[in-house]
Amino acid sequence: MSEPEASWQRCDPARPDTPVARSAAEVAALAGESRSLGELVARQSVCRACPRLVAWREQVAVARRRAFREERYWGRPVPGWGAAQPRLLIVGLAPAAHGGNRTGRIFTGDRSGDFLFASLYRCGLAEKPASVAACDGQRLPDTRMAAAVRCAPPENKPEPAERDACAPWLVAELRLVAADLRVIVCLGGFAWQATWPVLGSCGFALPRPRPAFGHGAEARLRRPAAPDLLLMGCYHPSQQNTFTGRVTPAMLDAVFSRARDYADLHLLAD
Ligand code: SF4
Repeated sequence: MSEPEASWQRCDPARPDTPVARSAAEVAALAGESRSLGELVARQSVCRACPRLVAWREQVAVARRRAFREERYWGRPVPGWGAAQPRLLIVGLAPAAHGGNRTGRIFTGDRSGDFLFASLYRCGLAEKPASVAACDGQRLPDTRMAAAVRCAPPENKPEPAERDACAPWLVAELRLVAADLRVIVCLGGFAWQATWPVLGSCGFALPRPRPAFGHGAEARLRRPAAPDLLLMGCYHPSQQNTFTGRVTPAMLDAVFSRARDYADLHLLAD
C-alpha cells in the first residue's frame, strides 16, 4: 500500500535539476552563487555535505517514531522559511529528529515549536497559533526562520565542523534579506555563538568583546548606509527549559514583543 501524501510534498522547493552540495567547499560555492531566496532554499534542501548528519537524518526518517509511523518524513535539510523581506529573523540550533526532520519546517512538529509559535501568535507575528508542517497555511508576514545547522544532529549536538560547513547557507540567506532586516533573535547559546561569524561575513561591525549570551541580551550592530541591526538572545524553548520553568510563555513574549517593537512591526489583525 502506498504511503499517504505528506503536506511538505506540495511545497518542496527543490527540482530534479537542483544542484547538490556534497562537501563544505560545494556548500560555500552553491550558497555564494544563489541569486534568489527560491534558488537558495532549494539548494539548502538537498545538501549532502555532512556524511554523519545525512546518515542520521535519513536513518531517523526510515525508522520513525511510533507515533508518526504512518507519516512520510522529510528526512532532508530544513531550509529557511517565512517572509521573503523579513524585518525579524529567528535563528535556531538545528531541526529536531522527529520535528523539523519530519515536517520539513524548522520549529515545527515538536513541543519547542508549539511553545515558540504560540508566543509568535500572541505577539502578532504569526497568523496561526501553531505550525504543523511545511505547507500547512501558517504565515509569518514579516518574520523568517532559519537554523544554524540545517540537518537534525544526533542528540541535538552538531560537531564544530558541521556547524562551519553549514554556515555559508546562513550567510547567503542573511545577505539576501539584510536590506529590510532590523532584528535577529537567537534561540539558545549555540545559535548565538554560530550567528556572530555569519554576521561578520555579511559585513556587520561586531562589538569587541562579544556580548555574552543570555535571555534578553542585546547588541546593536552597525552597518554602512542602513539602520542598526538589533541582535537579541532568547533561551531556547526546549522541553527541558519549559518543563523546569527556565523559560516561561511570559519570558518568550517579552523577547518577541521587544523585537516586534524595535522592528516597528505592525500587529496582525485579529
Ligand atoms: S548540516 Fe548543513 S552543510 Fe551539513 S549536510 Fe546538512 S545542510 Fe548540508
